[in-house]
Formats: sequence, C-alpha cells, structure tokens
Amino acid sequence: MEEIDGGVWSIPVPIPGSPLRYVLSYAIATPLGPIVVDPGWPGEAGWASLSAGLELAGWSVTDVQGVLLTHSHTDHQGLALRVREATGCWVGMHELDARVLAGYADGSRVHDCNATWIPQCGVPSGAETTAILMDADAMMAACGVIPDRLIDDGESIRVGGRSITAIWTPGHTPGHLCFALEDEGLLLGGDHLLPRISSHVGGYLIDESDPLGDFLSSLGKIVARVAPADVEILPGHEYRFRGIEERAGIVRDHHIDRLREAFAAVAEVTASTAWDVASRVSWARGWEETKGGLRRLALSETVAHLRWLAVRGLLVQTGRNPTVWSVRSNDLTGIEARIRAEVERSRGTAIR
Ligand SMILES: [Zn+2]
Repeated sequence: MEEIDGGVWSIPVPIPGSPLRYVLSYAIATPLGPIVVDPGWPGEAGWASLSAGLELAGWSVTDVQGVLLTHSHTDHQGLALRVREATGCWVGMHELDARVLAGYADGSRVHDCNATWIPQCGVPSGAETTAILMDADAMMAACGVIPDRLIDDGESIRVGGRSITAIWTPGHTPGHLCFALEDEGLLLGGDHLLPRISSHVGGYLIDESDPLGDFLSSLGKIVARVAPADVEILPGHEYRFRGIEERAGIVRDHHIDRLREAFAAVAEVTASTAWDVASRVSWARGWEETKGGLRRLALSETVAHLRWLAVRGLLVQTGRNPTVWSVRSNDLTGIEARIRAEVERSRGTAIR
C-alpha cells in the first residue's frame, strides 16, 4: 500500500494461486470520496485487502463514489459488484469489454471458446482438449457485474472537481482503457503495459479480429500521448515506472521475435494449425509445463501472432475446422525486415 503524489493510493489486492500475486487497485481522492480503479480479484481475502487499504487512506468502502474498470479480466473487475452492492456507486467500463462480461455471464462466450474456438485451433480431441476447457460456472460467477456507465475513448470523467480521462487501448482485451490524470502527470495503465512482463495479447475470434495489430496501434497511441510529458505509469501489476517509450520499444521487439518464430514454425512444414505452431515456439516455462488455462492463453497468444501475419499477407489462412496456416514461400530471407516494417506501420496506424 502506497500513497502516490497527486492524491492517488495504490492498494495491492491478492490473486490467490497466481504467480502475479496481486493486482494493484488504485483509489483516486476526490472531495466527495474516492474513485476506485480496478477493485481486484473477488473473494474474502481481496475484499479484506481493499477495505483495509481504503481505511488506511482515511475512507471506508461506503465512501466510494464510483468504480472504473480498465478491462474485463477477473483480477481487475471481480470485486466491482460487491463494491457497488456495499455503496450504491456506479461502475464504468468500455462497451466492448462490457460485452465480453455479458458473454461470460450468459455462458455464450465460454461455449464459443470450448465448442468452436478450441477445435478451430486444431487442439487434439480427448485429454488435450479437456485440459484447456474454460470453466463456465467459474466465469459466470466472476462476471456478473453489468456496468452503469459505458466509457468512451477520450471521455472525461468528472467527480468533485477531479477529472480523469479515458484512453481506449485495445489489445490485451478489446475494450481495454487506460485512465490519465493529466494535471498530476499520471497514467493508470491497467494491463496495457507492465514494467517487466509482457502482457497477454489474444482473443477468441480467429476470422475477424487482429488483437496484436490493435495492441501495437494502442502502444503507439499511448506513447504519443504520454511520452513527451514523462508521465508516470501506474500499472495493474508489478510496480510503477517511467520511460514508457523505452518500455514500449522492448515490448515491440518481443513481439517481432515471436512473429519471426511463428513464421519460421509455419515455414517448416506444409501447413500448421495454431496448436502445431504453439507447441513448436518457445515459452517461458516450456510447452510441456504450460498447462491448463496457461496453455489456453499461450494458444490464444499464438493465434494473435498468426492472425497478424495473415492480415498483412505474410501467411495464408484457410479453413475453419480446423483453421490451417501456411507460407506463400518458405524462403526466410528478409522476413524479419518485413515484419519489422509492418510493426512500424502498425504502431502509427489508427485502431480499427
Ligand atoms: Zn491483470
């Protein structure tokens, strides 16, 4: 727990059993009471940490005026419903992530993932599929909040004379928002850009979306917006940091490496599914040790890279059952330069 200049408190809220250990919830002081950004993972331990943090800062949970959500992931939004029930405050988020939550709450999104997306990725049926199925009951229980306010790109949220600007940064999720406190030189960055680990980029549509393209555009957008003023980033995990331009460059290089690797894995054989490619590229803990939900995330990240290459004509994508990826030519000469040039272009492109 830490008081940051500018009337902002950072409150770590535990995520049980996660290597990330905690999500950073932020309380922004206003004369009426605090605005809480990302209240954290649901459950008693999280609730106790959030309540104790607010009390240390001089409030009680019932003082909360509103909850802003950077995105729909459970570690960020899971406690929003409980905070609203305790206070009657509003909950605000971007419409695209509100739709994601609604899809988990009615079971349709879990069904799409398990019944359509997993086979489309070419996951072998049987034990391999069973091991990565999404748990409908768990998602339904964690995603029950329906926002009271839909927050648009560029919208200014005003509470008690305080102004918070929302910046739409899709990629980690389709409706991810960062929140800028412009007068204070602070950016609440959610999971868009973390200081040490690269945030997950994925999504469950193979045919229409381009999450990595969106992510790279968002990265360019946020750097252009905050780098000149050397804004301090208050991320959703790890620790606060400055130097967004340098950090964004490292993350961009990481994706260029992964794109090159995914391309090379496809070029090795005639045609590959996303599953084939995921099992051939490198993972922090190795593919065999990447299990369960982590393996599903790895697969989704692989799809994001394959899809990025296909949208830009570097790979050919065919079929739906499963979707198969191939190269136009298995000549690897110059591929890294082509990828780099396209990444540079993504960086300056407006988000679709
Ligand atoms: Zn997170």
